[in-house]
Amino acid sequence: MANIKSRTIPISVFGNVLKLLDNAASKMNVDPALMQYIKEPRRSTIVKLPVRMDNGEFKMFTGYRVQHSIVRGPAKGGIRYHPGVTLDEVQALASWMTWKCSVAKIPFGGGKGGIICDPRKLSIKELERLTRRYTADLIDVFGPNVDIPAPDVGTNSQTMAWIMDTYSMHKGYTSSSVVTGKPLEIGGSLGRVEATGRGVMFTVRECCQKLGMDISNSTVSVQGFGNVGSVAADLLAAEGATITYVSDQYGAIHNPDGIDIQKLLKHVEKRKKVVGFRGAKKCKPEDVLFAKVDILIPAALENQITKANVRKVRAKVIGEGANGPITPEADAILYKKGITVIPDILCNAGGVIVSYFEWVQDRMGYFWEEAEVNRRLEIKMVEAYDDVQQMADDENVSLRLAAYMIAIKRVVAILELRGIYA
Ligand code: NAD
Repeated sequence: MANIKSRTIPISVFGNVLKLLDNAASKMNVDPALMQYIKEPRRSTIVKLPVRMDNGEFKMFTGYRVQHSIVRGPAKGGIRYHPGVTLDEVQALASWMTWKCSVAKIPFGGGKGGIICDPRKLSIKELERLTRRYTADLIDVFGPNVDIPAPDVGTNSQTMAWIMDTYSMHKGYTSSSVVTGKPLEIGGSLGRVEATGRGVMFTVRECCQKLGMDISNSTVSVQGFGNVGSVAADLLAAEGATITYVSDQYGAIHNPDGIDIQKLLKHVEKRKKVVGFRGAKKCKPEDVLFAKVDILIPAALENQITKANVRKVRAKVIGEGANGPITPEADAILYKKGITVIPDILCNAGGVIVSYFEWVQDRMGYFWEEAEVNRRLEIKMVEAYDDVQQMADDENVSLRLAAYMIAIKRVVAILELRGIYA
């Protein structure tokens, strides 16, 4: 779970996405009115949720669900439980999902949801009641053909199981494909838990190959050791890279000779934090972002590298495991400095790709072996990376700009075929 206490979002994240889209559109020949249409979320729902707490009293919570786009298919995207959730943030995350699914060439639009709450301060029963009430209030918003949630920061497979059950009870039949990221027993996919981190590894590997960097001779710094960061670190280490810095919300550790990620995983399983691991020394959290390493993986939160600190970044390649860890201003500076950034909508698309596989398997009622899931994921990630790299080379732009250009182009192409019901 991500940093609950100290997280603030001073910058409008949705404003950042709009800037990125305008930037990409300025390089393309897209009708401005059409652009306006595809930039705006199509539907934003706010729900006020009374929840009975364990002490018998009711407490009110606020929840959101934003469907940014259904042009390419049902809205798809996670649900975040965090005290810092805002409509602005949920709109940004929903929009990113539209562009991510388009880059990954999967038949989904973009959606995202969130509840303003601190899941660490709620009991399991309170979390269950909150989740069921949120689902019940959004019963006509969700659906396997309409809008399909998944876990995000502060939620997990158990949350998805409660949503699936509540939705199914209201409909009167079991509908496993209404959510992804479910436990295996109720229709989850093998390989889903590791999918985002695995996708990060694939794109970093492809990028290193393109830049002529030998991954097995590379050093790596990872910010965030949750689902994405820990798997990415583990798989990059398996590729031969040396992981020299790792952090989480409680602190950071460093070992110039390499941190044994398998041992660190065992340590974190017991102690719930990276600090205290015997195979590394404690360091300052900011050292992780500004380390002199070949590869930096920000895999925690938004707005970590900003105009204020970007000049301290010394990595050669940055793979955005998190969504939006670099602000647009900082991104422009990194590009000028010659630092290659693999953008979030490409780098962390592995999660939604395997979510798509999960949805397909649920609808077929037939489940693939893990090796099959990973094989198909690799094909999709490498294809997406190649498409983006090709566009970047052709247009002489950053990978981020290229990814947005491809994403917009694909959404516009579908709109041209479907027409606008105006
Ligand atoms: P998580 O809750 O499992 O892990 C987050 C990690 O970040 C934790 O280790 C936490 O301690 C750490 N962290 C929080 N604040 C920090 C700080 N200030 N400094 C350093 N570390 C900090 O979440 P996750 O699922 O790994 O998601 C991480 C990011 O990746 C989020 O931006 C999420 O939206 C994005 N993402 C996740 C997935 C997925 O499938 N899980 C897919 C795409 C994108």
